[in-house]
Amino acid sequence: MSSTASDHRLAGLRKLFPVQRFVNDKASRSAFESDGLTAFRAKPLAVVIPETADEVIAAVRWCFDNDVPFVARGSGTSLSGGSLPVADGIVIALNRMNRILKLDPESRTAVVEPGVVNLKVSQAAAPHGLYFSPDPSSQSVCTIGGNVAFNSGGAHCLKYGMTSNHVLGIKAVTATGEVVTIGSTSTESVGPDYTGLFCGNEGLFGIAIEITLRLLPKPEVFHTVLVGYDSLRAAGDAVSAVIDSGLLPGAMEIMDALSIEAAEAAVKCDYPRGAAAVLIVELEGPREKIAFEREQLSRVIAATKPVVEMVAKDDEERMRIWKGRKSVFSAVGRLSPDFLVQDGVVPRKRLGEALVAIEKLSRDSGIRIANVFHAGDGNLHPLILFDGNVDGMLHRAEAVAAELSRLCIAMGGSITGEHGVGMEKRDFLPHMFDENTVDMFDRLRRAFDPKMIANPGKMFPGTEAPALAMTGLHPLEKAGVIQRE
Ligand SMILES: Cc1cc2nc3c(=O)[nH]c(=O)nc-3n(C[C@H](O)[C@H](O)[C@H](O)COP(=O)(O)OP(=O)(O)OC[C@H]3O[C@@H](n4cnc5c(N)ncnc54)[C@H](O)[C@@H]3O)c2cc1C
Repeated sequence: MSSTASDHRLAGLRKLFPVQRFVNDKASRSAFESDGLTAFRAKPLAVVIPETADEVIAAVRWCFDNDVPFVARGSGTSLSGGSLPVADGIVIALNRMNRILKLDPESRTAVVEPGVVNLKVSQAAAPHGLYFSPDPSSQSVCTIGGNVAFNSGGAHCLKYGMTSNHVLGIKAVTATGEVVTIGSTSTESVGPDYTGLFCGNEGLFGIAIEITLRLLPKPEVFHTVLVGYDSLRAAGDAVSAVIDSGLLPGAMEIMDALSIEAAEAAVKCDYPRGAAAVLIVELEGPREKIAFEREQLSRVIAATKPVVEMVAKDDEERMRIWKGRKSVFSAVGRLSPDFLVQDGVVPRKRLGEALVAIEKLSRDSGIRIANVFHAGDGNLHPLILFDGNVDGMLHRAEAVAAELSRLCIAMGGSITGEHGVGMEKRDFLPHMFDENTVDMFDRLRRAFDPKMIANPGKMFPGTEAPALAMTGLHPLEKAGVIQRE
């Protein structure tokens, strides 16, 4: 669209926002043209930056009246292209809606705007001995709105569940511009679980403008153990052994040798040398219970034949162990100029087997894959390392990512654990669900969004793909898996 035509088209929207919060110059729009999955890029027509719920509602109503697609954006940390703009649409950037509206220690709830950063909720709740449990590794930047849309998880979701288990109510503006309030402020919600339905729908139903969160009491004590193994499979099998023993740790995370190397180089976390993989197990809860469970854990771990075991003696050592784990995503930048993060799930029992298959895939493709993942959930995060400056490497890396999705489905798992389907995996949706089920998803979505203007092109296959940041056909296009219609 020419700039005059787009200016003319956007005149009504421009009137709704002060000049500094309506952005449609080329340079500023570029800052929003991709999310964490930088392989896809699309420049939006304009970006609006609301500061109040009323401004969000007004923007959505303008979009509905003018048939203009929109994408809600929190911090843009989606790794599946979920907050990638639509080229002929607008971005509604929610970062300025970052107020905690109410924090009630008595009912252990917080009411927040969608742009509140995840970690800020726990920081605000800390003086009351409370915290917000879902803890994505991106928690210091990602927003509650993004967490809701992706039903995000993190290291501690094994014990406490994903975001949807901690959202009691949502006020949202649907894609038709209607404002709805679903759920409640109570843990005993009335009626069907519409809040659960909204969670994980990747912004396809509309925009959450106010979210009521459940807060939990902070555990009294932690017991954190780092166990080294001489193979990745042994670490994977140890996860099943711990769960089979009846223990339910707060977290169980695995890192392979490449991830350990990256973390060591980046943050010097003093992990044991020479292990092919490490497993982090963290027990948490009341002091007496943990005193009993730590003995049990020690016996289970001894039976898994570890090469080394380190128990955190104090909070400082515990933080060092977690620092290594939490640093991996940014640290792999030291091993490779580019990487793709996959997010798939396999049944926990088949974890060891899946890791052997991933090692084989890496060998066969000649592409290094670093493994770091929420092992307790069977949630894999293979990091596919490549150099985007080398011709064809992004294509090859994407082909490996697709192979990993197929592997998860074949093993009875899922194509996404917590990062959403987004752009990245939408063509695998029909491999996971039968036709009737996908059709039901589609009808539900249309009930909220009859004009299909909320984040179109995501999650459902067969819609127009934006440009990839490279030339030529994408390998998945060549294989007939994705199309640009
Ligand atoms: C280094 C790194 C580590 C990560 N680790 C994890 C992890 O451990 N676990 C995990 O789950 N994810 C992880 N992620 C992925 C990502 O951070 C999360 O999914 C996060 O919830 C996205 O939040 P965001 O604010 O950045 O959302 P965005 O990327 O801006 O948006 C994500 C989706 O939410 C929609 N959306 C945003 N706000 C709203 C709203 N108010 N209403 C409706 N829809 C909305 C968008 O349209 C989009 O579809 C990681 C990402 C990075 C870069």
